[in-house]
Amino acid sequence: MKTSIVWFKTDLRLTDNETLIKAISQSEQMIPVYCFDDSHFETTPYGFKKTGPFRAQFLLESLKDLDKNLRALGSGLLIVKGKPEIEIPKIVKKYKAQKVFAKREVAYEEKRTEKLVQDELFKLRCELETFSTSTLYHAEDLPFSIKDIPDVFTNFRKKTEQDAIIRNPFEKPKQINSPEIPVLELPTLKELGLKKMKIDSRAAIQFKGGETEALKRLNHYFYETKCLSNYKETRNGMVGADYSSKFSAWLAMGCISPRFIYAEIKKYENQFGANDSTYWLLFELLWRDFFRFMFKKHQTKFFLYSGIKTEKINSKSLNEKFLSQWIKGATPSDFINANMLELKLTGFMSNRGRQNVASYFCNELNMDWRLGAAYFEGQLIDYDVCSNWGNWAYLAGVGNDPRGHRYFNIEKQANDYDKKKVFRNLWLK
Ligand SMILES: Cc1cc2nc3c(=O)[nH]c(=O)nc-3n(C[C@H](O)[C@H](O)[C@H](O)COP(=O)(O)OP(=O)(O)OC[C@H]3O[C@@H](n4cnc5c(N)ncnc54)[C@H](O)[C@@H]3O)c2cc1C
Repeated sequence: MKTSIVWFKTDLRLTDNETLIKAISQSEQMIPVYCFDDSHFETTPYGFKKTGPFRAQFLLESLKDLDKNLRALGSGLLIVKGKPEIEIPKIVKKYKAQKVFAKREVAYEEKRTEKLVQDELFKLRCELETFSTSTLYHAEDLPFSIKDIPDVFTNFRKKTEQDAIIRNPFEKPKQINSPEIPVLELPTLKELGLKKMKIDSRAAIQFKGGETEALKRLNHYFYETKCLSNYKETRNGMVGADYSSKFSAWLAMGCISPRFIYAEIKKYENQFGANDSTYWLLFELLWRDFFRFMFKKHQTKFFLYSGIKTEKINSKSLNEKFLSQWIKGATPSDFINANMLELKLTGFMSNRGRQNVASYFCNELNMDWRLGAAYFEGQLIDYDVCSNWGNWAYLAGVGNDPRGHRYFNIEKQANDYDKKKVFRNLWLK
C-alpha cells in the first residue's frame, strides 16, 4: 500500500492545490497533516511575537474549515505540535509513509525548516517532494532565470506579462483515501501562548479564516457587488470593507490561490466586461509575485539593514520612546495614529496606511526599518514574509524602489486620502 503525507503549511485549501493533487495521484492512501511549529509562536530578537492573536485566530479558523472540507471527501486533518523536523518524521513512521508532499518555500527560515525535515526524512528513506503553489506565475514559466529577474517591478511585469502564461488552476479533488483520521484537536490561543483579542467593531472587515470564507469574499467582491469593476478608483480608500478586495489574509494563509483569482477575473470579464479595474487587481497580484521571486533571488538580504543594496549603511540606534508611541498610535501625527490604532485593534491596515506609517517610521522617526517590519509581522492578520519585508525594504529605500528613497509627505497624504477626516474620526474619537 503506497502511503503518503501531505504536510499543509500556508496552503490551507483544496482548490488549486497541486501538492494535494500530486499526492492523491501517486498514493493509495494519504494523511493530511498540519504542524503547529513552536518557532512560529516565539518572540523574535526584535521583541515582538512572531504570530500575534489575530493571525493565530485566523489560522485556527482556517484549519477548522480545512478539516471540515477534507472530511467531506473522506479524509480529515491530523494536527501535531512541536518542531516539524521531529513531528513530521514521527507521522511518517507511524503510518509507514513513503513520501511527504509539501509546498515549496522561498524565505530563509521556512527553507531551513524544509531542509531539516528533508534530512530527517532521508534517514527514514522517505522522500520530500515540494511544489510551487502560491504565485500567479509558476517560477518555471518566467521568461528569466531567478538570478536574472529584474529588480525593478515594471521591467519584471512587462516582460512577464508579454512572455509568460498563467497556468490553469487545479480542480478540487473529488475524493481522498485516508486511514481513519482522529477528530480535529486544535490548540487554544492560550496553549499557543496568546491572549484572545476580539477584532474591534470598527474594523474594515471582520476577517474569518478558511477556504469557504475566502470563496464567499470573492463572490461578494466580484459577483454580488461588482466592486471589482471600480477597484482601480477605490483601492486607495481607508474606510469600509469594499474599497479593496481584502483577499490578502486568505492569500497569505493559502486559503485561496492567486491563479484561482485570476481565472475568476477572466470569468468576470467575460460576463461583465473588462476594464482598467479588472486588470488592476491582477497588477497588484503581480506585486505579490514579484516580492516572492525577489526573495528567491536575494534570499536573506531582505532581513539586513542595507537590504538588497550593496553599499554599506550603518543601522540606526533604537529609540524606545518613539517606537512605543508609533505602536500605540500616540505620535504627533493624527493620520499615523489612526492607522496604527487600526492595526493594533484589528490586525489590518490599508495599503495607503501601511505606506505612510512605514515612511514615517523610517524618515520622521529615523528608526531601523526592521523593527517596524517585525512589529507588522506579529500584528498583521495577512502577514506574508515576502510582501511584508519586501514592502518595508522598498519604503526604507533599500529594496526594489528604482527612485531610491521614497518620502511620503504625511500631511499631504492625509489631506489627499482623508480630506474629511472620516478615517481619523473613526479611530481617534
Ligand atoms: C509596509 C508594508 C507592509 C506590507 N505587508 C504585507 C503583508 O505582510 N502581507 C500582504 O499580503 N501584503 C502586505 N502589504 C501589501 C498591501 O498593503 C496589502 O496586500 C493590502 O493592503 C491588502 O489589502 P487587500 O487584500 O484589500 O489588497 P488589494 O488592493 O485588494 O490587492 C489585492 C491583492 O494584491 C496583493 N497586493 C496588493 N498590494 C501589494 C503590495 N504592495 N505588495 C504585495 N502584494 C500586494 C495582495 O495579495 C492583495 O490581497 C504591505 C504593504 C506595505 C506598504
